[in-house]
Amino acid sequence: MVALLNYFVQRQPSILQLIRELVEQETTSREEGRLNKIAQFVADHLPNSVSEHQLFGNPGYGTHLLARFNFGHSNEADQVLIVGHLDTVWPVGTLERLPFRVTEEGTAYGPGIFDMKAGIATVLHAIEAIGALNLKTKHPVTLLLTCDEEIGSKTSRALVEQEARRAVAAFVLEPPIPGGIVKTGRKGIGGFTLKVAGRAAHAGLDPSQGVNAIVELSHQVLRLAQLNDFERGITVNVGVTQGGTTSNVVPAEASAKIDFRFWTMEDGLRLEETIRNLQPTLDGARLELLGGINRPPMERSDKNLALYELAKNCAAELGFELGEGQVGGGSDGNFIAALGVPTLDGLGVDGAGAHAEHEHIILADIPRRAALLTKLIAEA
Ligand SMILES: [Zn+2]
Repeated sequence: MVALLNYFVQRQPSILQLIRELVEQETTSREEGRLNKIAQFVADHLPNSVSEHQLFGNPGYGTHLLARFNFGHSNEADQVLIVGHLDTVWPVGTLERLPFRVTEEGTAYGPGIFDMKAGIATVLHAIEAIGALNLKTKHPVTLLLTCDEEIGSKTSRALVEQEARRAVAAFVLEPPIPGGIVKTGRKGIGGFTLKVAGRAAHAGLDPSQGVNAIVELSHQVLRLAQLNDFERGITVNVGVTQGGTTSNVVPAEASAKIDFRFWTMEDGLRLEETIRNLQPTLDGARLELLGGINRPPMERSDKNLALYELAKNCAAELGFELGEGQVGGGSDGNFIAALGVPTLDGLGVDGAGAHAEHEHIILADIPRRAALLTKLIAEA
């Protein structure tokens, strides 16, 4: 196993070069031209062992790339699925301010490097190693890189689920919890827009004729805040409110944007129902709720934990300890795990600062992650 690690230590410069080439292509979600280009770029850099690949264009969004590696298995066999995303949250132009750079402390910075271009470069090298070292895999392998994960996976969800349905295991290239800790569970996520309709009136001449939509909304915001149960992992956040026109008019309209999260589908459905059934407090006010659950939870199931055990043993053979944890943020792993597929997330390169200015990776983790991915893909 030391041999596998050494193989990747030697290849670290070329993996880092590929990471750089990916980071220096700015690929903000919805930048269709840029996301088409990077999908083509990765398609041109697929390992030699690729059996076939397909590009799926989505007007207004970009391109998803699907690549199959049969490794001697039949096309129809159950597969190992690897999922990642090509889009980032960083607006085009960020690179000028935060260019790709390697530091003396052994880290590398750049927009989208941790989430998740380092993970993509690393897995391409891991798959290449399977062919180059003639390793046997238990199943054919499919790599799916999508272009819209950061904005909710609207155009990719069906494709992710279609490939997940015949997967024996799924690995997600999202960044790990700092420390290289992989993710066995993620919260489910929902969102609502609450629209309040009141009745406008002159604030001086006949205020009693009005129904103040902002007052009504305020009652609802307090109710929503009471739904938080941090111990149980249930969170309800009113993140945006709007309302009214000018100070001398009783406002006829107000609205709020709500984010809610939960560890289990049962909790999620109950919460969704509670929010949908909110009732107005003021006579004459009306409520309208638009939205619901977007991502089911990736529950920390026995299946996920069994896959973690495999990863932990692989890591131990490679000479390092691999931890696991759960997080409140969602990924495409949520959709996959919800179909009952054993899922392990957070398999990207160690670092910190996803979606933040200090986003970086730790270079010393590149060979370890590459070796871990190689073993996992072969042994799952
Ligand atoms: Zn991500």
